[in-house]
Amino acid sequence: MTAHFLPRRRAWSAVALAALAACGTPPPAPPAVTAVTPITAVTAVPPAAAPATPVPLRVIAFNDFHGHLEPGSLGITLPDPTQPAAAQRVAAGGAAALAGLVQALRQGAPHSVLATTGDMIGATPLVSALFRHESTVEVLNQMGVDVAVVGNHEFDAGTTELLRVLRGGCAPNAAESPTVSCAVKPGYPGARFPVLAANVLAGGQPLLPPTWVVAVGGVRVGFIGAVTRSTPSIVVPSGVAGLRFTDEADAINRAAAALDAQGVKALVVLVHEGGETGAAGQAADWNDPACPGWRGDMRRMAERISQQVDLILTAHTHQGYNCLIDGRPVMQALSFGRAVSVADLVIDARTGEVDRAATRSRNLPVFNDRTDAAARQRLLAAEPAPWADALRQARPVAAVQQTVAAYAQAAAPRAQRPVGRIGGSFDRRGRTDSAAGRLVADAQLAATRAPDQGGAQLALMNPGGLRADLPCSGTPPCTVTYGDAFSMQPFGNSLVVMTLSGVELKALLEQQQPAGRASPSFLSPSAGLAYRWLASAPPGQRVQGLTLHGQPVGPKQALRVTVNSFMADGGDGYIQLRAGRDRLGGMQDVDALVAHLQTTRTPDPVPRITWVD
Ligand SMILES: [Zn+2]
Repeated sequence: MTAHFLPRRRAWSAVALAALAACGTPPPAPPAVTAVTPITAVTAVPPAAAPATPVPLRVIAFNDFHGHLEPGSLGITLPDPTQPAAAQRVAAGGAAALAGLVQALRQGAPHSVLATTGDMIGATPLVSALFRHESTVEVLNQMGVDVAVVGNHEFDAGTTELLRVLRGGCAPNAAESPTVSCAVKPGYPGARFPVLAANVLAGGQPLLPPTWVVAVGGVRVGFIGAVTRSTPSIVVPSGVAGLRFTDEADAINRAAAALDAQGVKALVVLVHEGGETGAAGQAADWNDPACPGWRGDMRRMAERISQQVDLILTAHTHQGYNCLIDGRPVMQALSFGRAVSVADLVIDARTGEVDRAATRSRNLPVFNDRTDAAARQRLLAAEPAPWADALRQARPVAAVQQTVAAYAQAAAPRAQRPVGRIGGSFDRRGRTDSAAGRLVADAQLAATRAPDQGGAQLALMNPGGLRADLPCSGTPPCTVTYGDAFSMQPFGNSLVVMTLSGVELKALLEQQQPAGRASPSFLSPSAGLAYRWLASAPPGQRVQGLTLHGQPVGPKQALRVTVNSFMADGGDGYIQLRAGRDRLGGMQDVDALVAHLQTTRTPDPVPRITWVD
């Protein structure tokens, strides 16, 4: 950040006076400044009230990065400017490309801040997970992140590990653990940026700083962080033991009042919670300030956030939106570093207040080397000038590329580390449930059966969450590597235990073939759950003879059911799961699978769902 004071003689510019008038306070009489007596003006006016031109500040943000250091097959779907009704998918993302766009955006502004709004780590690809996310934090340092907020996934491995990852230092490497600390370099520096949380208390005190204040061009700008209060119901209990997650808006408003009392008038909120826009299942224009269909937890929260706050950068729902709500932008830029949110604030140098009418905000895609050149040209041509310039100038940052490559290289052999053995192939085939699905459901039940882990009685696994078989091609038992387990369960979902009634469980199972769909898609049940599927029966009457350990399931019986966090939110159309009560978060799905494989497992050939023609 460079100082941005203009020569004193130009200080009381027409722009500054107009800005003062716009704030509602009558401008004080200009001091007796003349072109020939600049020294008098300096001594006559206290520095805090020093007249100056407005200070521009560009805030750049990305959310839910989830350690996506490599572009892989990441892409982004945008409307085709030449045929507005059609959408086109282009390659986007990767840390080097993201860093390049950030650099171009920073070059286009005298002052800028780079923020990331939670779920930086946790639920990541192997190149981050294998290294306990040290790779991701190093890259975020290199990209020049100035400030961050925790997300729910930052708590996946518990508070102690979170604080280590943020503060630095190597973790002890256990011989049986597939993950490794300080693998590429002798030390690990931790995050070189503050990570905030105003609403997370440990023993009544904030676990992390609630706010961060930066001085730019003679004004101060406050950043306030908060994370979804639902965190304890979506992460493993040991991860949040001893912590209290309080109401986000209340915590934000308290922090805003405290900053205001200190004279910090320009305020930005980083909150790891989000909303949705557009008709369900239909992509909305991610830069439409009218934000049709704006809904979700963030809608209610935004309405409660103090009017002192000038910009709200959100996360968690992986959506793209740039809503203008109560005269201030509420933004999110998808996920995985595929896009950034940019807000250009104009701050009155005398009052320190943001001129809301002058704020310009935009979500931008992170084009990479694989982005189709013709599509990129079409999208650039439709983008307003200052943003198109940054997109055009952006080049992948070589230093970031090198760090990512070093970790990717180190990951390959480590993925070969054995984590367990199997007595035969677990594949995903099956008319109803599959051997692979049964294995994963059993692993998830085992991980959540203990009363303090949720007291689960059954688990259900969606077929789409199984991305690979566990093959055993030689003479059994076959060794399973961490890479094998990770390939099967790569999404980084956590487990969620919830209560459903017998009626609700049956309704959920009927959703395996919604009306109008030609064939069912079966959830694999854990051992002990069984029923018949009457393929020719009408919708809603296909599940018959539902039993748990041989006992009929009663309609009012309360059942503790484990699913992954994707399904728990209604993913794959299982909206019945949204009705689940008394939720408790569990471990990451791949960790549950690895733990289960510590005993040699043999495929169970018997389907738990009986198909009846
Ligand atoms: Zn999240």
